[in-house]
Amino acid sequence: MYTEEFDNVIVASGHFSTPNAPEFPGFTRFGGRILHAHDFRDAMEFKGKDLLLIGTSYSAEDIGSQCWKYGANSITVAHRTQPMGFKWPANWKEVPILERVDENTAYFKDGSSQKIDAIILCTGYKHHFPFLPDDLRLKTKNRLASADLYKGVAYVYNPKMFYLGMQDQWFTFNMFDAQAWWVRDAIMGKIAIPRETATLLADVKAREEGEDAGVDTHDAIQYQGDYVKELIAETDYPSFDVDGACAAFFEWKDHKKDDIMGFRNKAYRSVITGTMAPIHHTPWKDALEDTMESYLRN
Ligand SMILES: Cc1cc2nc3c(=O)[nH]c(=O)nc-3n(C[C@H](O)[C@H](O)[C@H](O)COP(=O)(O)OP(=O)(O)OC[C@H]3O[C@@H](n4cnc5c(N)ncnc54)[C@H](O)[C@@H]3O)c2cc1C
Repeated sequence: MYTEEFDNVIVASGHFSTPNAPEFPGFTRFGGRILHAHDFRDAMEFKGKDLLLIGTSYSAEDIGSQCWKYGANSITVAHRTQPMGFKWPANWKEVPILERVDENTAYFKDGSSQKIDAIILCTGYKHHFPFLPDDLRLKTKNRLASADLYKGVAYVYNPKMFYLGMQDQWFTFNMFDAQAWWVRDAIMGKIAIPRETATLLADVKAREEGEDAGVDTHDAIQYQGDYVKELIAETDYPSFDVDGACAAFFEWKDHKKDDIMGFRNKAYRSVITGTMAPIHHTPWKDALEDTMESYLRN
């Protein structure tokens, strides 16, 4: 063990690693497997099974789709607030939140029940920084406007401390890059961070209000696109067509709405290089071989 002094600390340890795993009544009696999305590896395990997924975000959508494709007998997805609402295949249903399970059956809030073989908790992750003292530890929900981060990166209570990529994400790597360039410039003194905590907090509040003013995912995508543009404008990060990227997100969302089991067959043009991606050789639902060789085959 040794100590060392640093002028700045940048936390880039991600926030999709520590599962948020709620417990429901009856879990200790349930005879099948219960796992968090984090531990999901192979849909073949659930072939022929009746599967219960809890949660309505990407993990539930993706893991459910993958298990459906590889022959799960049925998929049931339980929601706390709203169903995903896509046009699902016949053996896929959405139900209100789980109330309890017994050895082999799940009981839902609307009084319905379903025989199940396995439960996958698609219930998200926690921002978890066990390596930090409490006064430097970010405490935020998974949202587009993270709590306590000036410009989405500088910790308001000690702005020598930075966090990258802590937002809920539409944009990922370009946003992280733009954040990294902004933080680099702040550390090098090219960008001045206000000294008063109240000023820093006002920036956070304005970001939260901006996010809360949005009504749907369209607004959320544009909101994050505008944030990326803001960072790019303050650094020399190479500008790119952020609005074009937002447009691609909107198109992708429409494709999902049209055909949830077919949208993966579409191809999109890169807003960075202008290159059109090729259409995959086999429709997603028929492409059962998951090897790199098969994926890259012409
Ligand atoms: C199922 C799933 C699917 C996704 N699909 C997509 C997608 O299709 N497209 C997309 O753009 N994004 C996708 N994402 C999001 C994307 O993976 C993340 O946004 C991205 O990986 C975050 O990058 P990061 O570097 O911030 O964190 P991470 O990639 O999580 O990297 C954090 C690193 O920090 C290390 N670390 C953690 N704690 C410590 C510590 N105490 N000391 C030292 N090192 C530590 C970890 O080991 C890890 O190497 C997906 C995420 C998930 C979970």
